[in-house]
Amino acid sequence: MTLQELEIGKSASILSVGGEGALRQHFLDMGLIPGAEVTMVKLAPMGDPMQLKIHGYELTIRIADAKKIQIKPIDTPAEEKEINRNKKQIPHPGLGEGGKYHVKANEHPLKDGEQLTFALAGNQNSGKTTFFNRLTGANQHVGNFPGVTVDRKDGVIKGHENTLVTDLPGIYSMSPYSSEEIVTREFILHEKPKGIINIVDASNIERNLYLTLQLMELEVPMVIALNMMDEVRENGGSILINEMEQLLGVPVVPISAAKNEGIDETIEHALHVAKYQEKPGRMDFCSTDGEGSAVHRCIHSIMHLIEDHAKKAGIPERFAATKLAERDKLVLEKLNLDDNEKDILEHIILQMEKERGLDCAAAIADMRFSFIQKLCSATVIKPKESKEHARSRKIDQILTGKYTAIPAFIAIMGLVFWLTFNVIGAFFVNLLDMGITWLTNITDTALGALDVNPALHSLIIDGVFNGVGSVLSFLPIIVTLFFFLSMLEDSGYMARVAFVMDKLLRKIGLSGRSIVPMLIGFGCTVPGVMASRTLSSERDRKMTILLTPFMSCSAKLPIYVFFTAAFFPKHGALVMIALYFTGIAMGILVTFLLKGSVFRGEAVPFVMELPNYRMPGSKNVAQLLWEKAKDFMQRAFTIIFIATIVIWVLQTFDLRFEIVTNSQDSILASAAGIIAPIFKPLGFGDWRISTALITGFIAKESVVSTLSVLIPSKTILFSLLTPLNAAGLLVFCLLYTPCVAAVASIKRELGGKWTMVVVIGQCVIAWLAAFIVHMVGLLIGL
Ligand code: GDP
Ligand code: MG
Repeated sequence: MTLQELEIGKSASILSVGGEGALRQHFLDMGLIPGAEVTMVKLAPMGDPMQLKIHGYELTIRIADAKKIQIKPIDTPAEEKEINRNKKQIPHPGLGEGGKYHVKANEHPLKDGEQLTFALAGNQNSGKTTFFNRLTGANQHVGNFPGVTVDRKDGVIKGHENTLVTDLPGIYSMSPYSSEEIVTREFILHEKPKGIINIVDASNIERNLYLTLQLMELEVPMVIALNMMDEVRENGGSILINEMEQLLGVPVVPISAAKNEGIDETIEHALHVAKYQEKPGRMDFCSTDGEGSAVHRCIHSIMHLIEDHAKKAGIPERFAATKLAERDKLVLEKLNLDDNEKDILEHIILQMEKERGLDCAAAIADMRFSFIQKLCSATVIKPKESKEHARSRKIDQILTGKYTAIPAFIAIMGLVFWLTFNVIGAFFVNLLDMGITWLTNITDTALGALDVNPALHSLIIDGVFNGVGSVLSFLPIIVTLFFFLSMLEDSGYMARVAFVMDKLLRKIGLSGRSIVPMLIGFGCTVPGVMASRTLSSERDRKMTILLTPFMSCSAKLPIYVFFTAAFFPKHGALVMIALYFTGIAMGILVTFLLKGSVFRGEAVPFVMELPNYRMPGSKNVAQLLWEKAKDFMQRAFTIIFIATIVIWVLQTFDLRFEIVTNSQDSILASAAGIIAPIFKPLGFGDWRISTALITGFIAKESVVSTLSVLIPSKTILFSLLTPLNAAGLLVFCLLYTPCVAAVASIKRELGGKWTMVVVIGQCVIAWLAAFIVHMVGLLIGL
């Protein structure tokens, strides 16, 4: 029978894994290999994807993929493996300590002045960034969602000048699957760090060690840091460190990055192995007897066969041989084998497949997992079901429960927006607004009393205070929104949203993973676009990036508030909700159209780990908020500040640089007058509005600051716009081109051509939508 037929709560053993190519490899790398035991946990509320438990962790896969996996049901899962508390202790081997035991120390240590470079490698969500922040004192964003780090970050280890650590995106294996995984593989293979610090999530050790074995084959000096030991310990588990060191020939250090334990020891070992270039003591993971011996003979034959080519190509021999045994095309090309050798290679692999009874990819994955199983049964005292996991299961009964998941999602998002706009945000906005008004008044009086030149007086009050102030008062709302979004991400809820929404998103040609860039897009499009890198297919990535700008970003909020307060004071909430949903609906419509035309085909398969829920660290959250606040203030005092001054100057002087009495005669009016006709059919053809819209390209907040400079009083505003015009204008602002920063990040991800499509396309869409609003409004007689 196949995996999708397995009943909830039942276990089975995998017989074979179907499918092909990178996806199949990814399944194997995630531990779905013949012989492994899986337990069906639940289906997503909409019936697809499904959640499995394998090797002690939670994984989601789609029904369609599950159909390709053959299984054999088992009655009594061998869950409670023997607990080996009475293993005899073995001496501490002292790897990476420069002690008398150390194995394979290189006679040629690095020269004294040479910089020690380290790669921080490990599975997604294993705590690499937390560790990196501890090492370097940096403040990179940590999140409880697989794939938060999407780019490499460098830093110097505190107190060790001549070092450089690189935090890399998490990977599950050295067979790259998504674009951020390629970043990591390329870095380790080509930039040749002097050492690797491998962060292993000890609470999920079997899956994590899979990558460890592949890293060890690279012959780069390495230290294994067993992270999350705090959780393992609290749940009654433990790891025999000395034995593990002995068996792997690599220093192993138990740490807790979150609790700051074991960091210094890890640094010490890492510096030592890198300095003395101590390579891992073991690179051979195949067993010489039983079923596995075919694989053993195959790999070793290949090693002999390609020894010279591997040396020439600069690829570690064992790594190359295993990759060849997996029929990896990239490595095969690099090795430049003769035709004769290629033939022999193929024969060796075929013979192995025949003897082993598995195809090459499965056989190699099985070899690694068998070794890991042996290693773990000798060194790991399994914790009971962890408190964290039990808690997650309880929370998930509601948050991913069949009938509760979607109401819970709507309720949570509703609560987030309500608290942001109506409660917390609004309170602080009022407070800040009062402060700014107070400061403006004092300055105004002071300038008056000092008899300052009226032009300068006007620049300071009408220009700077008015413009920057109008934007600055939104700081609290924006910080609050980011606070909630980061809580959703750090707690592990985002991964659940992806799980629940997958089926729905597939209808518009995307996968559940796309929900994350979209939700982040409500904060700011730039990180939203960046987050799309976790998507493994080019097509999904493009579509998600095109969709993200339709999620109304927080910088557009001031615009909404400005106009709703003036024109629809009684229906504020309604207008806001309508705007957010219009954005989402337009995005969905556009994606739907793209799916039917440019981006035909299926969304990527959905294989994702569901991490346990965690309480976001307060330091982390505070850090993020401070960063966002700083960012926003910087923009307010640089871009917005300059923009308001420029606008003020342009509207105060005419072409002969004389102060105008009526701003209708100003430089700005004549320049903006050229563009204004474009907006005439939409009902807001005034030059002041078009100026504001143009400055909105620099930063969305600037629409408001510009309007506050150009339109000093409500009466003028009301003479320019009817409520219907204002509605059209709001829709236009919602949909038209993203700001420069977002456009730049889109260009980085998609290149120039698509960026033009986004900028021009969105302007056209915005114009059409605003036109429709205007026309419909006129028709029904508003
Ligand atoms: P990365 O994806 O490997 O960079 O992992 P992160 O550093 O973003 O951390 C993932 C999650 O694990 C976050 O929620 C961290 O707070 C949490 N975490 C990291 N280290 C530890 C640890 O030592 N103990 C515990 N309990 N949690 C940790
Ligand atoms: Mg990270």
